[in-house]
Amino acid sequence: MATITCLCPACESTVRSELIPGEELRCSQCSQQMAPSVPDWQDGQLNCCLVCPSDQMFIRKDFPQRLGVTIVCLGFLASSIAWFYHQVLLSFGILFGTAAIDVILYIVMGNLLECYRCHAQYRGLGDIASHGSFNLEVHERFRQEAARLKQAQRPGPAN
Ligand SMILES: [Zn+2]
Ligand SMILES: [Zn+2]
Repeated sequence: MATITCLCPACESTVRSELIPGEELRCSQCSQQMAPSVPDWQDGQLNCCLVCPSDQMFIRKDFPQRLGVTIVCLGFLASSIAWFYHQVLLSFGILFGTAAIDVILYIVMGNLLECYRCHAQYRGLGDIASHGSFNLEVHERFRQEAARLKQAQRPGPAN
């Protein structure tokens, strides 16, 4: 099953929806139409974002970074406590154990496709290998574009 997680352009609530080829994509909150018809990505792949629509997307691990950091911190803490009680072997064991959990989690987690511009996330699309991995230059370009857009939308001084 392929899903999309994105921000609705109209009401800005987080929308998580199943992607069904040929069917429209609507916001579950305000029923704003986000895509008139979901393209069939099976023969080929999803070439552009359904929400914004931009063709610049990148592959990243479906792994919440905060979780990884939390695991490492907890491991470090537990290992320090063991060290304090002179349990040297246990201390190292915990440290390596938590690092290993991090690595294993990273490997088993699948990939997702994310849009640079609107940060819509696509899961379960299957073949997304043609999209590149994260590129800081492209990201920066879209970040600056978004900043410019925000500035332009700001009401100017009254005449
Ligand atoms: Zn909405
Ligand atoms: Zn997008």
